[in-house]
Amino acid sequence: MRIVNIEEATASIASDIRNAYIDFSKMDVSVVKITTDVIRDGRPVVGYGFNSNGRYAQAGILRDRILPRLRAASDADLRDPERDNLDPFRAWSIMMANEKPGGHGERSVAVGVVDMALWDIVAKIEEKPLHVLLAERYGTGEAEPTAFVYAAGGYYYPGKDIEALQDEMRKYLDMGYSTVKMKIGGAPLADDIKRIEAVIAILDGDGSRLAVDANGRFDLDTAIAYARALDPYGLKWYEEAGDPLDYALQATLGEIYSGPMATGENLFSHQDARNLLRYGGMRSDRDILQFDPALSYGLVEYLRTLAAMRQAGWSPRRCIPHGGHQFALSIAAGLGLGGNESYPGIFAPFGGFADDAPLSDSRVDLPAVPGVGFETKAKLMALYDSLFA
Ligand code: MG
Repeated sequence: MRIVNIEEATASIASDIRNAYIDFSKMDVSVVKITTDVIRDGRPVVGYGFNSNGRYAQAGILRDRILPRLRAASDADLRDPERDNLDPFRAWSIMMANEKPGGHGERSVAVGVVDMALWDIVAKIEEKPLHVLLAERYGTGEAEPTAFVYAAGGYYYPGKDIEALQDEMRKYLDMGYSTVKMKIGGAPLADDIKRIEAVIAILDGDGSRLAVDANGRFDLDTAIAYARALDPYGLKWYEEAGDPLDYALQATLGEIYSGPMATGENLFSHQDARNLLRYGGMRSDRDILQFDPALSYGLVEYLRTLAAMRQAGWSPRRCIPHGGHQFALSIAAGLGLGGNESYPGIFAPFGGFADDAPLSDSRVDLPAVPGVGFETKAKLMALYDSLFA
């Protein structure tokens, strides 16, 4: 088996929403399509990959460094030594040749895009959904048929008042989500508390069904002020209070805030994840780790992150990845994570799960098709076709 073509493109996911730190008016993603000479169902096996929202397209790094290395590799260099298939671990080493350690920057995003496409191919060649393949190779052997998902919304946008925020959250409940998340930190604390109370009111008064996300906006004093104000509500979690690399802030917060804290979506390597566990004061009995495999060197690296977690005494159940994409959903169901983020209606068509996937009580069914499951999303497939026509 061999790779016969690698194509790369950039697609827009721009919108008028904003969180406490950035707006999404220029947001875009890199997309790759990798074609093999393996035939399944009468057609060549093709894999797709993209990066999730929050980091921009990585066309330059892909075109100048990552894809030329992959194209220059021999077929034998990319082949799984034990199976007639591609080996994403070997491909990873080839893509990362001549890259110094540390300072991960956004090359981790570029590698993640390609890694997603390679795993899509590996599972399609084995004619299995990715989550089933992952459970067999790296998990308990038994994939979970559904995964916990929560509706991440509550963004700030011009003219949005509390009633509009409640309407948005009601829409998520109608879709089958029972747990939701909203942004904080884009308004003064007193205003955010009013927003939080308004959302809890439509969650039957149950704060444990609401997570809040500050997107790394707060300094220590503000993070602590919010912690004191939030603690009585018994929230699902308090996410990214301070800068993602400020482990001392996170550790201090953990001494003050009794409820679950969540962070990690802007840590892009297993070394950074390990540092968070070493120095960030995260508590393995309640806190949530949100490393996003599509932004952080892909699944090959995510397996290393899970190993580092295990070594530090953490269960994979404490992982609920950022990103709202099918790749992380497959990993969640295959490797027994705690669930996955979901962005109903935004960052489409890359965000979201199978078009017809049943969703109730915040659990969504995994697709039964081979690969990551992109073929279950009609608009995504149509976009792929237009990008790579
Ligand atoms: Mg977040």
